[in-house]
Amino acid sequence: MTAEARENRDFVREMVARDVVSGKFGRPVMTRFPPEPNGFLHIGHAKSICLNFGVAREFGGVCNLRFDDTNPFTEDIKYVESIKEDVRWLGFDWGDREYYASDYFERLYEFAELLVKKGKAYVDSQSEEEIRIGRGTVTQPGAAGPWRDRSVDDNLDLLRRMRAGEFPDGAHVLRAKIDLAHPNMIMRDPLLIRIRKAPHYRRGDAWCIYPLYDYAHGLSDAIEGVTHSLCTLEFKDNRDIYDWLVREVGFERPPEQTEFARLQLDYTVLSKRKLLRLVNEGLVSGWDDPRMPTIAGIRRRGVTPEAIRAFAETIGVARKDARAELASFEFAVRNDLNMRVPRVLCVARPLKVVLTNYPEGQVEQLHAPSYPHDVPRTGSRLVPFSRELWIDRDDFMEDPPRKYYRLSPGREVRLRYGYLITCTDVVKDSSGSVVELHCTYDPVTRGGNAPDGRRVQGTIHWVSVAHALPCELRLYGRLFSVPDPDDVPEGEDFTSLLDPESLAVLRDAWIEPSVADDPPGSRYQFERTGYFVSDLVDSRPGALVFNRTVTLRDSWEKEKARA
Ligand code: ATP
Ligand code: MG
Repeated sequence: MTAEARENRDFVREMVARDVVSGKFGRPVMTRFPPEPNGFLHIGHAKSICLNFGVAREFGGVCNLRFDDTNPFTEDIKYVESIKEDVRWLGFDWGDREYYASDYFERLYEFAELLVKKGKAYVDSQSEEEIRIGRGTVTQPGAAGPWRDRSVDDNLDLLRRMRAGEFPDGAHVLRAKIDLAHPNMIMRDPLLIRIRKAPHYRRGDAWCIYPLYDYAHGLSDAIEGVTHSLCTLEFKDNRDIYDWLVREVGFERPPEQTEFARLQLDYTVLSKRKLLRLVNEGLVSGWDDPRMPTIAGIRRRGVTPEAIRAFAETIGVARKDARAELASFEFAVRNDLNMRVPRVLCVARPLKVVLTNYPEGQVEQLHAPSYPHDVPRTGSRLVPFSRELWIDRDDFMEDPPRKYYRLSPGREVRLRYGYLITCTDVVKDSSGSVVELHCTYDPVTRGGNAPDGRRVQGTIHWVSVAHALPCELRLYGRLFSVPDPDDVPEGEDFTSLLDPESLAVLRDAWIEPSVADDPPGSRYQFERTGYFVSDLVDSRPGALVFNRTVTLRDSWEKEKARA
């Protein structure tokens, strides 16, 4: 066990450590991340990825990437590609261990014949509905159907003909022969294989029978030699069938399943089915919409893989489900960006300031460090300063309350990296809205301090009108308006809980020119505004688009109140 494993101690790692010491499996630790390629990965999957790859690395083992692709209706190669990209981006490497459950269809079929021959599986020809009723209920045992005692020969013959495509969908299924009165409903002769005359995205028309999840999952683990099969709590009841199958098929020292808590994050949903609906119904711009909890969306939003890994570590691995607060995720994001991204000046809602005593045509290049003192990085740039500036509308109030330290008539403020200025005149249009401010600057205050030591409390950001680059800011908020959008009121659909204000677009923002040549995907802190990233899809030179990754602090409530 590495030092990292000792530090990350949780019940899963405790267990793996014990198993390594006792030599329980007689082989190196092997885990797997087993996505079904029917959607993009989300932050919940990231938790599972960090756990599976993390445990493998910490205990000198390996982690497989296995696509659990057993449903021909919902799966697609585009999801395989996106999943690989996301796992790689998160910083994990599966080497050459890229596996597909669909590559095991032959083995799984052989196992099926084996089970039939052992008398442990049978072909049932009841309808879906009859099978359901025959299962009984939680309080009532089920009853054997008419086909449960078919002979091995009949079963084999039917199974082979199922495979050969002689029957239509639903005509027969292969079921395990276990116990129709089993206290665990899943063990009441679970379905193993069904007929589905549908082409598979990888296997084409090679198969017309497909294994069910329970049948494919544990046996795929066993085929690969997995030791610790880590999955989320909703599979707790499936552990019995997992164990039954790997044992009956005859694996020595088979893998063991352990369940951990699923990540649930406030103000979002982590169900691929629901996320797919948001995409298909056009309620978001796609899987990579920056409001989506998908890895692709979070990446486009500007979050780094390091921040996601740090978040996964903070939430830890527990046995009981608990929701994570969005604030805990945003904390991890800010913490990471604070230490790595340069600061720049960007004015979101521009208001023009004319410095009436600043010489026309004069331009000064002001030195501006890109990082604050407490960030151990160096770097600086020059920001042009001239007679006409943009400042943020929010930094001016004509009639300010007490304790408002920004600009107002007669008041002096500091321009970041620049001069002290005083507002002398407010220019309004015919409707009375403020359109321009006239200010004077104090030439001896370059750098922001008055030689006479007079105190100026407020510091505001700005850009030079003649030099700034126009840009679009996309301010993303929470996707849903309630903390738990899985808790839907009677008669309503979860989509009714979407927050209509989750995106605000500001089209007339201005940013300092130093960013002109930065590649798309560059991240910044816009001073006093938030962390932003230039949009990987839509931003280009001359038409810059920035996504807000996260606000500087949790100013969400404040912002809502103002809107
Ligand atoms: P959904 O239920 O939304 O369809 P899923 O869990 O079925 O998602 P899979 O592709 O089967 O999606 O998941 C791959 C792995 O990721 C599984 O081992 C699953 O347990 C794990 N996983 C999925 N969602 C979460 C989550 N919210 N938190 C932690 N692990 C998760
Ligand atoms: Mg699943």
